[in-house]
Amino acid sequence: MSSPVVTRFAPSPTGYLHIGGARTALFNWLYARRFGGKMLLRIEDTDRERSTDAAISAILDGLTWLGLDWEGEAISQFARAARHREAAESLIEKGMAYRCYATPEELTAMREEQRANGLPPRYDGRWRDRDPSEAPAGVKPAIRLKAPVDGETVIEDRVQGRVVFPNKDLDDLVLLRSDGTPTYMLAVVVDDHDMGVTHIVRGDDHLTNAARQTLIYQALGWDVPVMAHIPLIHGPDGAKLSKRHGALGVEAYRAMGYLPAAMRNYLARLGWSHGDDEIFSTDEMTGWFDLDAIGKSPSRFDFKKLENLNGHYMRAAGTDELLADFTSFLPHAENAEGLRTWLQDPAHVEMFRTALPGLKERAKTLVELADSAEYLWVQRPLAMDEKAEKLLEADDARKVLADLHGRLSAVGTWSAETTEEAVRAYAEETGLKLGKAAQPLRAALTGRGTSPGIFDVLAVLGREESLARIADQAAR
Ligand code: GLU
Repeated sequence: MSSPVVTRFAPSPTGYLHIGGARTALFNWLYARRFGGKMLLRIEDTDRERSTDAAISAILDGLTWLGLDWEGEAISQFARAARHREAAESLIEKGMAYRCYATPEELTAMREEQRANGLPPRYDGRWRDRDPSEAPAGVKPAIRLKAPVDGETVIEDRVQGRVVFPNKDLDDLVLLRSDGTPTYMLAVVVDDHDMGVTHIVRGDDHLTNAARQTLIYQALGWDVPVMAHIPLIHGPDGAKLSKRHGALGVEAYRAMGYLPAAMRNYLARLGWSHGDDEIFSTDEMTGWFDLDAIGKSPSRFDFKKLENLNGHYMRAAGTDELLADFTSFLPHAENAEGLRTWLQDPAHVEMFRTALPGLKERAKTLVELADSAEYLWVQRPLAMDEKAEKLLEADDARKVLADLHGRLSAVGTWSAETTEEAVRAYAEETGLKLGKAAQPLRAALTGRGTSPGIFDVLAVLGREESLARIADQAAR
């Protein structure tokens, strides 16, 4: 029986959780779920200068927002340095590694000479077979892997296929620096082994590392995990992803008003496919996800597609679900002070909930939804936008409003249905097209030329506020 699947996400906390990292995390999470395994989280914080606590929190927050959970505590790579050193020492004992006493100056001179001779810069193995008794006094050694000089190292990658690296191109890499700190290459191997990782899914910028890491696994006598190196995400034009094209932190997507479920769906489709399906629930994704269906060529990030998908998710969301997403979005929204303040009153939250089904139909993002909710909380008399102004200037729009004020005042029970009935009856009796009545009404009630369905607006605002807003704009 094969061992249960263990994947890991291993971000370096030197910045926010960017969109590529989020996708890597998602793929690891999906794969673990698909095969009843678990995903672990390892923070690769060995670069002490560039790793920050703020970045760690941003990564954890981003994953949590996306709904990607991990098993147990996040593991700090830095905290495991002693174990990494122990592994390097064990390789010396096995004769698979050696101490290298070359000074930085010596190594620089070596590389310069190689460059001058048109050779690629590579460690020349000068301490590989030397007796440690020749060690110069006062020089602290690094530990290097005694890598094979002939043959090749093969990665059977689940995405890239068979990738072959001639060993002569992989020199004796440093495992432990002369200051005793482990290198990234060693730390990753030891951690993945100790954490029981069975599948490594990460960006294909790590493919060459995979060859070097394979040599370390072999030297330590450990099984090499299954590898899957996924192509990076490109911009819509096929070039490297730029900020403008979406190379942003996950928190930027949150602030732009995307739903976590839509993000998961969109990110899954960035590289992975399941037939012609574009929209799938998280359950479907975890039921279908596999590494073999990840494409070999870079996927292209497309904001328009994400936006449309998000609009779909918003329309499909239930009111409670959407309210929960909106509530967690609101603190991160820009220019939403008015709405935030207004929503502090629980009665207003109720009103907002009632308005949601109407609001979500027109919004592709939560930002648009927040914007279109403005009619709920603006104070009378409403300022008119340009389109609303035009609607009110048209023909006898203000006279129509005065008439409608009369008709609506007479409505018994106030609801979308009863107000619609009154407006329709008025239009029919006066031979007016319904739009000619509805458009000035829209302007008066929302201050805008576009809004949710006008009868929903009437119902949400209630009798008193609706009539007052109509009176504000009606001919006297
Ligand atoms: N820390 C590496 C990165 O953020 C990932 C290393 C790995 O997945 O093996 O690119």
